[in-house]
Amino acid sequence: MTALNLRTTAEIQASDAAHHWHPFTDTAELAAKGTRVISSAQGCWLTTNDGDRLLDGMAGLWCVNVGYGREEIVEAVARQMRQLPYYNTFFQCTHPAATEFAEALSEVSPAHMSRVFFTNSGSESNDTVFRLARVYWDCLDKPSKKMFIGRRNAYHGSSVIGASLGGMGAMHAQSGLPVPGVHHIGQPYWFGEGGESDPAEFGRARARELEAAIDAIGEDNVCAFIAEPIQGAGGVIIPPETYWPEISRICREREILLIADEVICGFGRTGNWWGSDTYAIEPDLMSIAKGMTSGYIPMGGVLISDRVAEVVAHKAGEFYHGYTYSGHPAACAAGLANLRILREEKLVERVRDDLAGYLAKAWAGLADHPMVGEARTKGLLGALELASDSAARTRLAPLDGMGAGARCRDLCVENGLVMRAVGDTMIISPPLVISHGEIDELAARARKALDGLADAYARKGAAA
Ligand SMILES: *Cc1c(COP(=O)(O)O)cnc(C)c1O
Repeated sequence: MTALNLRTTAEIQASDAAHHWHPFTDTAELAAKGTRVISSAQGCWLTTNDGDRLLDGMAGLWCVNVGYGREEIVEAVARQMRQLPYYNTFFQCTHPAATEFAEALSEVSPAHMSRVFFTNSGSESNDTVFRLARVYWDCLDKPSKKMFIGRRNAYHGSSVIGASLGGMGAMHAQSGLPVPGVHHIGQPYWFGEGGESDPAEFGRARARELEAAIDAIGEDNVCAFIAEPIQGAGGVIIPPETYWPEISRICREREILLIADEVICGFGRTGNWWGSDTYAIEPDLMSIAKGMTSGYIPMGGVLISDRVAEVVAHKAGEFYHGYTYSGHPAACAAGLANLRILREEKLVERVRDDLAGYLAKAWAGLADHPMVGEARTKGLLGALELASDSAARTRLAPLDGMGAGARCRDLCVENGLVMRAVGDTMIISPPLVISHGEIDELAARARKALDGLADAYARKGAAA
């Protein structure tokens, strides 16, 4: 039990249902089920208000890369807040924390990117990207280049522009999105959409949709292509190895900007500092957030290539864009302390040289489970495709109105594991400090949940 909270779980749930409107939530359904109350956390483990421990296979929401309970970050933030809790970075001002963090970021950024624009979230980063990329072409006297090309089932945030650049059908349907100026092409999701083609051929075909879209829209009208190196919220969609080389070729041959949304892939998740390193992508702009502070304080940013920076800095005059909390001192202090941990503990190298292989092996052990159609990983991202027939990639029918993924997710929680469901794709993104023993535990608990799922389907089959 946590000592921090004197209210009972039932009291917290009742108050929460009355006053707290949750993101991405069916509010009526939540009130009926009751929220899970997480009260404390340490390392890779969450503790509920009732004292149950859960292994956090998602690092919060893909962000707590250095794990929970890092005193170095807590201390750095407290120190900064005592010295200067807030000052803006508008009007000719800066402060030491913003300067120091920007410089530290440039040391780990790709060589051609030496500047950062600070935001407070991934969504704001993509709003910034949308405006900055358009300003870039205006500066080059190509004002017709306004159209963004994104991908179906991509996630770029929940602001109006973030949701528009993203390709989430349910989000679009609810509020009349996307806004004009955004076009979507297909995603490199072989398991879900590859049909009879082989993955390499499918990867190339999906990449060439970009070329076809540029031709259809007209190169003079296209501003940029934006994509996550690996789609996260869409279901940890690891593209076939043929995909990114083909996208890179198209972006080199055509005059458009290439924007990598590194909000999940950045800061070591794929075994390099950037997903762009993992796939040899050379982006003009990169959106960052999440692992930037390991989630201890909200923060995001846009890393800007020197090519874009020189043009905009010299030709645009004032860039009429910024947030009150751009470069917030406490967030910068958290980011600096986080970066120091990543570097001193060599966590990026640890993912590359040790954990990626260890997780891949543990995960591959689940591939032959009768409920699993595919098990895939890259770095510390992983997915399990639930299917009744792995060769045919046949999906499971819902049981009593509940999809297999949602049921599997609940079974994971019953077995002390947080694993997220995207439709019938189960996904993980654990902290980069996870141990071998904890990876074994993660796989063992996932297997128990899959066994429970198999039992539920067998019982239903016997009853039918
Ligand atoms: C989470 C996410 C975002 C949005 O970040 P917020 O901080 O929630 O606004 C954008 N892009 C990607 C790839 C993400 O995973």
